[in-house]
Amino acid sequence: MAKAKRIYAFGGGKADGSMELKNLLGGKGAGLAEMSRIGIPVPPGFTITTEVCTEFYRSGGKLPKSLVPEIRAALAQTEKLVGRRLGDPKDPLLVSVRSGARVSMPGMMDTVLNLGLNDRTVEGLAVRSRNPRFAWDSYRRFCAMFGDVVLGMKPEKKEDRDPFEQILAWKKQSLGVKDDSELGVEALREIVAAEKAEIARRGKVLPEDPMAQLLAAVEAVFRSWDNERAVAYRQLNGIPAEWGTAVTVQAMVFGNLGDDSGTGVAFTRDPATGENAFYGEFLVNAQGEDVVAGIRTPQKIAELAAHFPDIARQLEKVRARLERHYRDMQDIEFTIEAGKLYVLQTRSGKRTGIAAVRAAVEMAEAGLIKKDEAVLRVEPGALDHLLRPVFDQHAKEKAVAEGRLLAKGLPAGPGAARGRLVFFADEAAAWKERGEKVILARHETSPEDIRGMAAAEGFLTAFGGMTSHAALVARQMGKVAVVGCGALDFDYNARQMTVAAAGGSRVLKEGDWLSLDGSTGEVIEGALETSPSEVVQVLLERARKPADAPLYRDFAKLLGWADQARRLDVRANADQPDQAAVAVAFGAKGIGLCRTEHMFFGEGKIGPMREMIVAENEAERRAALAKLLPLQRADFAGILKAMAPNPVVVRTLDPPLHEFLPHDAEGMAELARATGKTVDRIRERVAELRESNPMIGHRGCRLGISYPEITEMQARAIFEAACDLAKEGVHVHPEVMIPLVGTRKELDHQLEVVHATAAKVFAENGRKVRYEVGTMIEVPRGALRAGDIAQSAQFFSFGTNDLTQMTYGISRDDVGPVLASYYAKGIYEVDPFVTIDRVGVGQLMELAVERGRATRPDLEIGICGEHGGDPASVVFCHELGLDYVSCSPWRIPIARLAAAQAALRERAARKAAEARPAPRAPAHRNGAVVNGARAAGGARRNSAVAAPAKAPRAGGTKRARPSPRA
Ligand code: ADP
Ligand code: MG
Ligand code: MG
Repeated sequence: MAKAKRIYAFGGGKADGSMELKNLLGGKGAGLAEMSRIGIPVPPGFTITTEVCTEFYRSGGKLPKSLVPEIRAALAQTEKLVGRRLGDPKDPLLVSVRSGARVSMPGMMDTVLNLGLNDRTVEGLAVRSRNPRFAWDSYRRFCAMFGDVVLGMKPEKKEDRDPFEQILAWKKQSLGVKDDSELGVEALREIVAAEKAEIARRGKVLPEDPMAQLLAAVEAVFRSWDNERAVAYRQLNGIPAEWGTAVTVQAMVFGNLGDDSGTGVAFTRDPATGENAFYGEFLVNAQGEDVVAGIRTPQKIAELAAHFPDIARQLEKVRARLERHYRDMQDIEFTIEAGKLYVLQTRSGKRTGIAAVRAAVEMAEAGLIKKDEAVLRVEPGALDHLLRPVFDQHAKEKAVAEGRLLAKGLPAGPGAARGRLVFFADEAAAWKERGEKVILARHETSPEDIRGMAAAEGFLTAFGGMTSHAALVARQMGKVAVVGCGALDFDYNARQMTVAAAGGSRVLKEGDWLSLDGSTGEVIEGALETSPSEVVQVLLERARKPADAPLYRDFAKLLGWADQARRLDVRANADQPDQAAVAVAFGAKGIGLCRTEHMFFGEGKIGPMREMIVAENEAERRAALAKLLPLQRADFAGILKAMAPNPVVVRTLDPPLHEFLPHDAEGMAELARATGKTVDRIRERVAELRESNPMIGHRGCRLGISYPEITEMQARAIFEAACDLAKEGVHVHPEVMIPLVGTRKELDHQLEVVHATAAKVFAENGRKVRYEVGTMIEVPRGALRAGDIAQSAQFFSFGTNDLTQMTYGISRDDVGPVLASYYAKGIYEVDPFVTIDRVGVGQLMELAVERGRATRPDLEIGICGEHGGDPASVVFCHELGLDYVSCSPWRIPIARLAAAQAALRERAARKAAEARPAPRAPAHRNGAVVNGARAAGGARRNSAVAAPAKAPRAGGTKRARPSPRA
């Protein structure tokens, strides 16, 4: 077999690679190759593949020896294109060494710029460029970056700034200058000397030989795949450690050559709102990292035309070209070197949920993409952003009147956040652990802060613009952020910040309450009241009309397109009429789980419930149940009516009874009074009802079997409510669900009670109502015996919380400490209570679907566990051929979108498989999903459906595309 190609060159209008090779070249490398091909000006270079990264780690952190000549050869090609050589003392080529994984991990890994400088080449560069200041500025940047990235020199204490930043700050202070660009050649030489002294003081070596620099930098960039912040980022985003990073070595272009040079970043649309407007920032006479690091606050892209009219026109063309080519919003880095434009990076732009929806809808309406593509563009979880509250306008006006509006920064991450002020990322995480809401405030954030940022409600920074690190992370995590708020001055040692305001400055200390409006950039003292989002105001409060709610209109359009695409129905888990109303507004087609026990906690209900539980014989129990009957009937009437004509699945009593009992003296005394028993007897009874393992104890259908009168009362309440509503002409459809069934006999016992009660109630009322009786599949034995159980059950609903708990044998209430050590040791990558474990629990589900439908082909099957609102799990349910997913009302839009995406991806995969020439390979097993199960689900609804192609694996948003090399 030929050896795999390890280095891909680009530049001069050509490239070895392209976007197709993203997995191999990383997003950055592939993007540069692609741009080079389509005639966008990029400096030449080459990319070392992610496979080499894997090799690097396999061989204990060393570059393969055989790679060195390959690097030399690729470098020679770059040198030829540029017309300069690395290390040439007269006219040196400088390069950047850049990281890039297959999905972008902004700022998480390292880059070294200006590589190739040493005490000799810097002089050559000074002469050749006729700009000694520029040469020495580049050199001081190189020493700092090499020291940080390759030599690993970090601050010695967390209160300290980066050691090289400290040197720079010290020099600026001693000369009394504010901006880096005011430093002269002499000052820069002194900075370089100080940097070298600091490197030596720490016992490190910066090699003079540029080739040695290059190899060390390539290794360091590979190593940065495994640095702490990259690991944290991967965990937060579900990116597998095996992917690795590519390394791109690229000829430098210089934005710091003088006032005819500059650097910037831009989005082809506004990443916060999605508006179709070129959006970005730039700095004159600066290198790229200055913008992202937020060291200087940059100018808006709209002002570019004033400085560089020609470049502004060219950039506008690049913008149009890239959007047309990628048919998506792009995020680009550019540099202007002495009046010439270069693009250094393009990638699909990270955007807020609001921007994602608006851009997708507008692109579809403009014909740039199809409606189905628009549906695929928005990550389901991002819809949450459109439902989140905003600050209450009155509360804000009041705060302003009271002088609590402290300052205004840039609105980088929309939404409303309030929390207590902390100044260190690690402390943000610790406070959050203790249950506090926090706002993380800092000079600027850096990728090291990622965990703390994930823990914070919002971020506030003094420096940096809309494309600074804090802004980027906010958009990606869906956090609120206000950045570049120049009025702030931090004193980390004293744990306080001073806010300069018109009426005198204010000091805020750690722990003080602060509110951030990420849509306006306002920073407000205290915890401000919030009010519902635009979408919620239209849908739930009816306080606003769609006509003046553009965000709502886009949301509704996108979900409308999603509904046309999806096959799964979406129902809600709801137990109160008001929740049912929310569910309907969000598009639920029925209730998949009404937990009757939740109703018992309502006003005046817990008393009779407790009486029922402590009853010592059937007569006592029936007396208590008689009090509960009208209460339950009213609850059911409310919920059946709110959902009519859609089905409502009502589950009979499920939880361990002791959950309802009082454990305090007062509660016991009250129960004693109500039942006429002594307090001692009540205490004894509570003790008798205690169980060692209540979750696998006397609960679920076991209760209804021990005390059939409970099931009887509940069935009566349901059917009486149904008959009453039917009399009013309301079209109701109850489905009675028996929990925790492991054997058919359990179900049969309860079925008899339900059917007998129905018959009685219907006779009493002289009318019949359509209903079904089914079961939950949540005990592994129930899944295994699904074929038998389906003889009796008219429907199944997977209770995946219990099914996961019992399949793993891990208590869902005690999983916290297990997860903590399992994540750390790489035993689990995701929480199985959040995303369905396809290969384990999923196999039981698949088996139950297969066996259940073999017995009863029209068996209705859904899922009502928490997983029903998790996008990756929704995809799995689609593949299993379920009829519906049921989730909490606020997750319904997310489930609708996820279900649509699953259907669209399946369709695309099927098309691709049909296009492939015969002979067909035998169908793959894909995780736990057997094609048969899907075929059964798909074919039931659409007989024209051929055997489905291998469906894509659920990966949530980060979809692991099969490598093109595979
Ligand atoms: P990240 O992924 O963290 O953004 P990059 O590799 O994109 O890291 O580089 C960091 C900064 O250095 C960016 O602003 C980029 O534009 C700039 N940069 C990278 N390579 C070059 C180059 N060849 N010439 C000029 N600037 C560069
Ligand atoms: Mg970049
Ligand atoms: Mg359960």
